[in-house]
Amino acid sequence: MLETIDGLESGVRGYVRLFPTVFDTALGSELFDVDGKRYVDFFCGAGTLNYGHNNPRSNAALIAYIQRHGIQHGLDTATRAKIEFLESFQTIILEPRGLDYRVQFTGPTGTNAVEAALKLSRKYKKRSHVIAFTHGYHGHSLGALAVTANRYYHDQHYGSRSNVSHLPFDGYLGDTDTAALLDRMLEDPSSGLPIPAAIILETVQGEGGINVASSTWLRKIDAICRKHDILLIADEIQIGNGRSGQFFSFEQSGIVPDIVCISKSIAGGLPMSIVLIRPEVDVWKPGEHTGTFRGHNLAFVTGRTLLDYWKDDVLANGIKRHQLYLEHHLRSVCGKYPELSFTTRGRGLMQGLDVRCGKLARAVIDHAFANGLVIEAAGAYDEVLKLMPALTISPEILDEGLQILDAALAHAVSSLLRVPTYKEGAALPALNPLPIQPVASFSSATS
Ligand code: PMP
Repeated sequence: MLETIDGLESGVRGYVRLFPTVFDTALGSELFDVDGKRYVDFFCGAGTLNYGHNNPRSNAALIAYIQRHGIQHGLDTATRAKIEFLESFQTIILEPRGLDYRVQFTGPTGTNAVEAALKLSRKYKKRSHVIAFTHGYHGHSLGALAVTANRYYHDQHYGSRSNVSHLPFDGYLGDTDTAALLDRMLEDPSSGLPIPAAIILETVQGEGGINVASSTWLRKIDAICRKHDILLIADEIQIGNGRSGQFFSFEQSGIVPDIVCISKSIAGGLPMSIVLIRPEVDVWKPGEHTGTFRGHNLAFVTGRTLLDYWKDDVLANGIKRHQLYLEHHLRSVCGKYPELSFTTRGRGLMQGLDVRCGKLARAVIDHAFANGLVIEAAGAYDEVLKLMPALTISPEILDEGLQILDAALAHAVSSLLRVPTYKEGAALPALNPLPIQPVASFSSATS
């Protein structure tokens, strides 16, 4: 059946190359292919399935809505489904956090939200420059692509890089305070850096390799924005919707961005993106940034239902428990291979295991997939195994996935380093530093 894909679909296809099977059904954290083979999902559509596949709550609401012939498409006319979504977002998410934002519904994918945020910032500040960070990922439409760092996605013929500078993210220069560097460059009229309309960042860079910005650094960037009259855009597309442990990942630092981009899990797998805008920044003229699929009504229905997870602390407490378990497990994995200097980092249920070599990570992914685990890698060289289970995963399935991963790692280390059978604690041939090799594959051809 894959021949159909190979024969008919564009060469741009990515994930099917990494997970070469034909998926058919899915429930919670389990996927099944057409042959009935079961897979544990540690990938979750790159953060789109935070509430699991076919979440029973949102499925029930969706089926009921379709059966009563609820409006499916309405451009941006008022519908009951939209109003109920907006009211729930206001009362369950924004008000309890003391946040005051207008909601803009953009086209349905993350890059549409980023595109709108960039346009609005430029219009509001009447400046065209934008600052982004090393390893940042914000999507592939031309405006969003310009702030996406990875060279793999760029082609000089797109002509899309104008008016953007990439500055070092937190930790990029070791102990150097990269926020201080940014401040210095903005202060210095002769640094070559224009005062931008906005700074766009992910608090945890997902595709960039699970790079976690500290709260201190985020607060410094926020202060720099105020000092130099710059808007702060938080791209919460992957780390938002509870993945960090809180609904918004910036909550922990106490900063309040001027603009927030949300997508992926907001409607539990149905396409929807929104931009949250500080009211005075909402200077759009009616219909000035428009599109056919802004706020799909079926997504309003699933999205509204899933917001109920944030009415109490049950989900957040579950994320915390899983996070501690994952962190402990990944630390023990690093301890098993001291010669290879693996490291682990992350927040909430976005955890990374940096194996320092794209080839090794790919060998782990392939072995894990053959044995029933779906997991991908991130980072400039695809060298960071990215663990993103559903927030609602059961402890048993989480454990099952980790066991498959452990076995895949042991197998990949054994075969790549030519140790016939790796035994825990056994000495490995010295390989220090492990060469980091860019993989020639489709890189982190991400969604
Ligand atoms: N921003 C971030 C942080 C993302 O992770 C992604 C997708 N991986 C995007 C933007 C783009 O979203 P989409 O692929 O839906 O356009």
